[in-house]
Amino acid sequence: MAAISFQNVVKRYGTPKSFVQVIHNLSANVEHGEFVVIVGPSGCGKSTLLRMVAGLEEITDGTISISDRVVNNLEPAERDIAMVFQNYALYPHMSVFDNMAYGLKIARVPKEEIRARVEKAAGILELMPYLDRKPRALSGGQRQRVAMGRAIVRQPQVFLFDEPLSNLDAKLRAQTRLEIQKLHRELGITSLFVTHDQVEAMTLAQRMIVMNAGVMEQFGTPEEVYSKPATTFVASFIGSPP
Ligand code: ADP
Ligand code: MG
Repeated sequence: MAAISFQNVVKRYGTPKSFVQVIHNLSANVEHGEFVVIVGPSGCGKSTLLRMVAGLEEITDGTISISDRVVNNLEPAERDIAMVFQNYALYPHMSVFDNMAYGLKIARVPKEEIRARVEKAAGILELMPYLDRKPRALSGGQRQRVAMGRAIVRQPQVFLFDEPLSNLDAKLRAQTRLEIQKLHRELGITSLFVTHDQVEAMTLAQRMIVMNAGVMEQFGTPEEVYSKPATTFVASFIGSPP
């Protein structure tokens, strides 16, 4: 049983009379606990693909399943996913604890359960000393971790990351990358991570989907993609030796 299954997924934007097709018949299975990176140049359809998994974009044709449940017609909140965006917005007037607890309160999770989950996430993210602080009293890296904490406490089946590192300076990017790897080691949650940066993809991925103009050109481990590129596009994008 796959954690996430794409079956002949098609995405067209526009109307039936006037449209652009941005995802072409994409099929792939992501296994439970896998960290899969979706990589490709800007405009190739990475965010669209992720947003269809999240339920933020309609699936034109084909199906997407999460743990064997077709999610095409489910609301985002029903999909058991959590998404970490490039621009994370924390509530400035709320403490770190309340920022992390907010979604759980809305979902009417019992108070003691909320405390337990927030403290577990804060432990992993090394945020325990900061739970009472307001976001403005945190460093950029700590804020980024609070944003991840908000996703973790929901205990989703799947994490979706859309270029969460691309607005960060080099030092913070390296730090956050390690944080994400640690998170995956400790929690083992199936993850889809989108980036246009091939080096980031090669470092983070257990397997990677290389996309070009809405087409999946290859799906394999970084080693496979590097040493046996499936197409000339993959070879030149990854920079494999000829
Ligand atoms: P990526 O994340 O890889 O940069 P996107 O998924 O954002 O690519 O976009 C893929 C293609 O779909 C691009 O050509 C983009 O211009 C187009 N596109 C994205 N969103 C919309 C939209 N809401 N309406 C029309 N075209 C869109
Ligand atoms: Mg994008």
